[in-house]
Amino acid sequence: MVAQEFIVDLDKPLVFQVGRLGEAYQEWVHQPIVSKEGPRFFESDFWEFLTRTVRWAITVIWLPVECWSISMSTRMGHSLHEIALMVAFGILVWTLLEYSLHRFLFHIRTKGYWGNTMHYLLHGCHHKHPVDGLRLVFPPAATAVLCLPFWNLLKFMSTPSTTPALFGGGLLGYVMYDVTHYYLHHGQPTSEVPPKS
Ligand SMILES: [Zn+2]
Ligand SMILES: [Zn+2]
Repeated sequence: MVAQEFIVDLDKPLVFQVGRLGEAYQEWVHQPIVSKEGPRFFESDFWEFLTRTVRWAITVIWLPVECWSISMSTRMGHSLHEIALMVAFGILVWTLLEYSLHRFLFHIRTKGYWGNTMHYLLHGCHHKHPVDGLRLVFPPAATAVLCLPFWNLLKFMSTPSTTPALFGGGLLGYVMYDVTHYYLHHGQPTSEVPPKS
């Protein structure tokens, strides 16, 4: 008897279904559904709420944290010039981190139930629903959790008075990245590309 292929029911919450696709997950996740209507991820309203983020939440939530963090290094006696260097270095660390995560983790090939499920939550959902307006920026709850290892990484590389400014810079790099990424998918340029002279 031939095993019947599992088919994802798009009208039901998706997250706990995609794992069952097994090896077929890779092909499924790379066939995008181009609709601004987002699918439901979870049965539970609480978890569902955490997966949806309005784009302005990113700046509203994280900019104050950045300012506070950077000002902490200022209060510990660093000059403006030093702070600017630290912030720039933090942005660089973020950039390298994003590149590595995207290259080695976000596009990892999975086929097991939990592997597929985790990949879908982390990045697969973006390939499947690339213009889902509420799932384009990273959910703040997840960012908050990831801030801890990021802080520890920077702490390991720096001194107590430089860590906060580096962290603020890294977070600033993240916000610039996420806002640009959102614009690339959803932006409506208001002016034409200037003609070649
Ligand atoms: Zn990707
Ligand atoms: Zn994208």
